[in-house]
Amino acid sequence: MSIPPKKRKAYKKAAVILIALVLILLFRLVENIGYDKAPGDRFVIMRVIDGDTVELAGGDRLRLLGIDTPEKGQLFYDSATIFLESLVLGKKSRIEYADKRRDRYGRLLGFVYIEDTIFVNRRILAAGLGYLYLVKDQELSRPGFRELLDAQRIAVELEKGLWGIERDYEDEYIASKQSLRFHRPGCSSVAKIKQSNIRTFEIMEEALYEGLSPCRICRP
Ligand SMILES: [Zn+2]
Repeated sequence: MSIPPKKRKAYKKAAVILIALVLILLFRLVENIGYDKAPGDRFVIMRVIDGDTVELAGGDRLRLLGIDTPEKGQLFYDSATIFLESLVLGKKSRIEYADKRRDRYGRLLGFVYIEDTIFVNRRILAAGLGYLYLVKDQELSRPGFRELLDAQRIAVELEKGLWGIERDYEDEYIASKQSLRFHRPGCSSVAKIKQSNIRTFEIMEEALYEGLSPCRICRP
């Protein structure tokens, strides 16, 4: 028994609509994945760019959240890069994203975990191969950032890596109440701080202990 032509046409129409719907849904799904990856996604790390930036399978770059490692030409640049490579290269990573998933350069931004137990961002600070880098105070209410601060405190105490190098100490260090960076007194940024906003620290460890990071210009 064959299906009457009229009915066949209706079936065909329904099938076409169904396929179109599935395609639209699929496209949306793919589009979403491409745009902002879901939290807790896993990616293989294909390349290490420097101490705080990696490239994921698929080509996306990811900047490690909450830390800052030395730039090319600075002390510990190579050590930080090699250390990161030894931890993550070719490994499957779990990424916990920042509130804003991408920075202004379009790079993903997050905490990286290997085998769910190795918190990579923290390992770098624990080895003294980078600085804690907070953007706002409230970040410290998130456990990951808290762990980073604790790791840095210990690294400073033990004079690991960057914290063990000879430096010119100042009699005091200056910060603004509205910023999370601290400076040498002679830094050009200090002149711009309003008197009522000035905070001083007798030793730089006090500033570090609070989670402030050294200015990139005067490099205390
Ligand atoms: Zn400065």
